[in-house]
Amino acid sequence: MKNRKRIASAAALIVLGVILGLQLGDRGTNSMAIVERADAAGGKVESPTGTAPDRYVYYPGTEPLRPDEIRVICCGSGMPAARHGQAASCWLMETGNGDKFIFDLGTGSMANLAALMIPYQYLDKLFLSHLHTDHMGDIDALWAGGWTAGRPNALQVWGPSGETPEMGTKYAMEHFLKFCNWDYQTRAYKITPIPGQIEVHEFDYKGENIEIYNENGVSIRSWPAIHAGDGPVSFALEYAGLKIVFGGDTFPNRWFLEYARDADLCIHEAMNTAEQLRTYYNQPPALALAMNTDFHTSAQAFGKVMSEINPRHAVAYHFFNEEGTRYGIYEAIRETYDGPLSMATDLMVWNVTKDWIEERMAVATHEAWSVPGTATQPPPDRTRPDVMTDAIRSGRINVDDANANMVREFKQKYGLE
Ligand SMILES: [Zn+2]
Ligand SMILES: [Zn+2]
Repeated sequence: MKNRKRIASAAALIVLGVILGLQLGDRGTNSMAIVERADAAGGKVESPTGTAPDRYVYYPGTEPLRPDEIRVICCGSGMPAARHGQAASCWLMETGNGDKFIFDLGTGSMANLAALMIPYQYLDKLFLSHLHTDHMGDIDALWAGGWTAGRPNALQVWGPSGETPEMGTKYAMEHFLKFCNWDYQTRAYKITPIPGQIEVHEFDYKGENIEIYNENGVSIRSWPAIHAGDGPVSFALEYAGLKIVFGGDTFPNRWFLEYARDADLCIHEAMNTAEQLRTYYNQPPALALAMNTDFHTSAQAFGKVMSEINPRHAVAYHFFNEEGTRYGIYEAIRETYDGPLSMATDLMVWNVTKDWIEERMAVATHEAWSVPGTATQPPPDRTRPDVMTDAIRSGRINVDDANANMVREFKQKYGLE
């Protein structure tokens, strides 16, 4: 049996705590998990030539999901200002039926998502919590990167409407394609056009717990969030009797308290403290405070929300998570919430079943290549107009002699004309 670090339910923690004589109510980092001492690092290595058991690590692509299991991978947990160590909001949810759902695709997050080396044909369902760039800024990298790496299908994007049409997801995606028109026209001719299409499923941002997706045993619901203007929403994904809630940016709100109830995993923002935003993020004090009290959720308020909802496991994100910040945020959350908690950072992974929730870190390569899936990309559509004119083409010099051997060998190997 795999020796994973498992996060026991609250009840099991109490029982285990009594057995082990542990001090209950210690909500330090130990609340993550209580594991037997010999297995503290994942298990014993039985032989010098043997294999090491799992050590709080998920190696992408190496573990099939059980039919009744959901895996959630944080591909971005940070803020709008880009940094190497932490991308902006992005969450991959993989369900045991083989489906994959991307919730938000914020600035910088696509490199983490790509590092999981999932064939692009399966990364075609994107749900946007709102239209701030730290929640959708890397859509270009999924759209074009997946296109060049063999995705045969169009992207499907679900997102909220706005108070007016130009504040909604449909408008944003139409104009994204206009922004990328040169990219689209050139790739559509050179590669194939269909993967460059975006099919938008815009839904009513005011809808309260409305079902916006229902296929293959997966149901996704939406309800309003209260952020910087009308439009933002939060989501719940339900599958195999499990419920994963993903809260987009929001001030604490009554809809979340109502519809996030019974969540197995509840992801919600917890902003950097006002002092951190002032000191590190260079924000004026008034803005730093408003970030905590007006259009985002403070760490203390995050704790209050979680105490009300009482999920099996809570996940805090949307703060720069580092030595200088995490303790202040953690302590602020613990002023108002003492339940199971993860302080999210990029490539943190949760496996969720009825029996356990486990938190690990994914170990992924910095040099990921795309991986082929089962489908192949359609051939180029030669009925499309070539978008290069003869005036430019005529400037080519002849390098046939330089390429001759390479071209002959490659054509021979792959049977090209
Ligand atoms: Zn936002
Ligand atoms: Zn945000």
